[in-house]
Amino acid sequence: MGEDIATTEHRSGTKHFVRLVEYLPGRFLSQVRPHSPDLLRGLGVFLGSMDKAFASFHHPAADRELKWNMKFAPSTVRESFHHLAEPKGRALIDHFLKRYEDLTLPLLTQLRTSVIRNDANDNNVLVGRALPDPGAFDLRVTSIIDFGDMVAGFPVLELAVGATYAALEKNDPLAAAAPIVAGYHQIFPLTELEIGCLYDFIAMRLCLSVVISAEQRKAEPANEYLSISEKPALALLDQWRTVHPDFAHYVFRNACGLPPCPQTEKVVSWLSEYRNDLGPVLDIDLEKKRPLLFDLSVGSPQLSPWKDPENMEELSALLLSQMSAANTGVGIGRHDEASRFYTSDNFKTAGNDSPEWRTVHLGIDLHLEPGSAMIAPLDGVVHSFANNSSRLDYGPTIILEHEIDGGLKFYTLYGHLTGDSLNGLVKGRAFKKGEMIGRVGAIGENGGWPPHLHFQIVTELLGKSGDFPGVALPSQRDVWLSLSPDPNLILKIPENVMRPKTRPRERAMILDLRSRHLGPNLSLAYRRPLKIVRGFRQHLYDENGQAYLDAVNNVPHVGHCHPRVVRAATEQMTVLNTNTRYLHDYIIEYALRLKEKLPEPLGVFFFVCSGSEANDLALRLARTHTRRRDTIVVDGAYHGNLTSLIEISPYKFDGPGGQGAPPYVQKVPTPDGYRGLYKSSDPDAGAKYAHHVERAVGAIRKEGRSPAAFIAESLMGSAGQIVYPPGFLESSFTYVRQAGGVCIADEVQVGFGRVGTHFWGFETQRVIPDIVTMGKPIGNGHPLAAVATTPEIAASFKTGMEYFNTFGGNPVSCAIGLAVLDVIREENLQQRALEVGYYLKAGLENLKDRHRLIGDVRGLGLFLGVEFVLDRETLAPATAQAAQAAERMRDKGVLVSTDGPYRNVLKIKPPLVFTKADADRLIEVLDQVLSEDALRH
Ligand code: PMP
Repeated sequence: MGEDIATTEHRSGTKHFVRLVEYLPGRFLSQVRPHSPDLLRGLGVFLGSMDKAFASFHHPAADRELKWNMKFAPSTVRESFHHLAEPKGRALIDHFLKRYEDLTLPLLTQLRTSVIRNDANDNNVLVGRALPDPGAFDLRVTSIIDFGDMVAGFPVLELAVGATYAALEKNDPLAAAAPIVAGYHQIFPLTELEIGCLYDFIAMRLCLSVVISAEQRKAEPANEYLSISEKPALALLDQWRTVHPDFAHYVFRNACGLPPCPQTEKVVSWLSEYRNDLGPVLDIDLEKKRPLLFDLSVGSPQLSPWKDPENMEELSALLLSQMSAANTGVGIGRHDEASRFYTSDNFKTAGNDSPEWRTVHLGIDLHLEPGSAMIAPLDGVVHSFANNSSRLDYGPTIILEHEIDGGLKFYTLYGHLTGDSLNGLVKGRAFKKGEMIGRVGAIGENGGWPPHLHFQIVTELLGKSGDFPGVALPSQRDVWLSLSPDPNLILKIPENVMRPKTRPRERAMILDLRSRHLGPNLSLAYRRPLKIVRGFRQHLYDENGQAYLDAVNNVPHVGHCHPRVVRAATEQMTVLNTNTRYLHDYIIEYALRLKEKLPEPLGVFFFVCSGSEANDLALRLARTHTRRRDTIVVDGAYHGNLTSLIEISPYKFDGPGGQGAPPYVQKVPTPDGYRGLYKSSDPDAGAKYAHHVERAVGAIRKEGRSPAAFIAESLMGSAGQIVYPPGFLESSFTYVRQAGGVCIADEVQVGFGRVGTHFWGFETQRVIPDIVTMGKPIGNGHPLAAVATTPEIAASFKTGMEYFNTFGGNPVSCAIGLAVLDVIREENLQQRALEVGYYLKAGLENLKDRHRLIGDVRGLGLFLGVEFVLDRETLAPATAQAAQAAERMRDKGVLVSTDGPYRNVLKIKPPLVFTKADADRLIEVLDQVLSEDALRH
């Protein structure tokens, strides 16, 4: 009692010392997912701090023999090797052991030594919430347990062990290891030599783990823990074998802020020094040809209207037409430019958290006539060549090797050649400066690209032959650019052609400028805001060409940048854009087309520029018609940003910064069948909610007045994707009309076929409003909106005061509105909303069975909501969880948002071109996110 250490005796008679250690809260790193880069970086920081503290600590007992002591790894592995049965595992271990003995073992004497903890495996590392705030789901490393493996070793081994276990079961083990290295180095800087040993140390730790597990499994077959990481370790060894050791080395150097590829600097300075001795690559005078520099960046308007990113014929024609317009036969595609060509699956990598596409160009492209000759800019020999003929590959490619000062080598790569260019070529064949190497291939033979030479410098080939990546993952940009520096070092395309790139602003810079120069209450989606530079159909693309599935923007109703709509807009822009004070066909054609879609007597139109303008005008119409002002609104509704509309939008006037309802506004409860006063199981819920409208009429009457209007969204958006119980609008309209009021349907969110069964949301409630307001989807993103009403109400508005709206109903807007209606009809989008919406909703309902966090799935067509609750009985809103789900979905490339009075409803309202495959993806990603540690509930 009271002693620090007590003794106990085992059945076998052995005495053991026991000591009570403090209980550490947290969960093991092995048990939590995802392992975000921040979490892993934190592990590096933790290990770095620990080693820094150990740096000056020595103890004789630390120099002990221990199986897990990596100092003795080769002999341990050799001794226990025979326990391993699988030949594949043996071959892997043999490979890594040889490498280690040849390359790393001789360096050990030069490494720093100290006592290390020596087992930061993921079953020893504890993590907890980074912040006590219940809404903060980010995890961080809080502690480490089990100091039983402490030995005198090398600090870098500490890091290697941590990185090894974090790399287990990852699609991209290197990407998991790198942030740990970065964090460690930040606290306890590594030497270049140590960084250089990491790849082999990681491999050796895996070999140790595998052979020791195999041995222990034999000894104690029932003890599962002993071989817990054997299988994943073998799998990682297999993966590690495919990671080029030099590439890993460069990634780790980059993580430590060092130039990734050390010899690049020498190559670059040599090329700069001998610049004048380098010959041309083309047998044409680039200066005289006045080449056209293409902007092929993701957001470049030069790439429009290129519809299909996989259609190279179309791209080819587009580039050629630009070259001919510029009266040149040479077009140039830049180095270090992210393009959208690479969004097909050929360029996709799985990534640890979400897929990533290789998009960053590592060469310079010279677009030329097929058959144009290219020549060696300096002496070299053929290193390798190949016909990389799969689709969207390099096609015929030659790599020349050039030896420069002191045996240093670098390479030049020529891609997309004619097949003939490879005829008779042999490895080692010498090319003199000025000698022809090959010719530019046509689209049919060059890998399927517009005819061009892809010219790239490579300072280290990473063991590749006849091939080398021409585009890189944005996440590895620095490393690849270090392997492939600017080809203009050789091409010498004049400055005035290359023009210094006006670098688009980085995200952080835009954030900063926004905070200073834009109104401070503009909000941004997501904690890590996205920079979006292009949209097409149901996808948005960021500046790095990474695609996001857009499941939230209902404005691009028929798909982002629909070519038909774009054409209508541009054509009319070139002809006329003026106002409604002149006669024009389009405005009247458009009014007639909208009328076809509406029930009688809704046949008179006003064209405006935003949903807010439409609702403001609707209020004016109703108030002028009735000569009253009192308005009945639905709780949670949002009708727009004008003063008049904030006054009738409970979402705003009862929300943050709001000042409550003005005296002439009556609010009725949200007809929410899930969380509201009456549930959807109640067959009379619609009527019961409508009674509140009757009561609101009564309240107005009590004050001696009568209602001017009742305004309701046909399905509610901001209130949390609410579908009214049957009969709600019908009965409400009756009460309001009995009191002489006008009924306004706000279709700004849901109109134009989104609900699937009908063209308008109000039709699902079997009513005919007196005024209908339209916005958002009506112009597919163009600022167009409209008010439809009856001849009678329109007549009342003719008070003598002119209604003039400068932009409303202009010929360009009307051309766009007409095109949108055409596309909805021709592409059958209402039917698609019905079918895909039904399918998506069913999938979401399935998720509800598996994830308790989902309280309700609701909506019509492609206007859906998923409500998150902490408790299905109390309906306690899971606000933070909903936000986290939206954030994680964004990380995984799917965009949704949250809303509702508790911001606990995921809003799903994609462009109507959404497909069933997109629905599957959304469901899969939501399922993954809900299965993550933070949201498992
Ligand atoms: N009504 C509803 C139902 C809306 O959702 C919105 C916009 N969110 C508006 C009106 C206002 O439209 P705008 O932002 O185009 O002015």
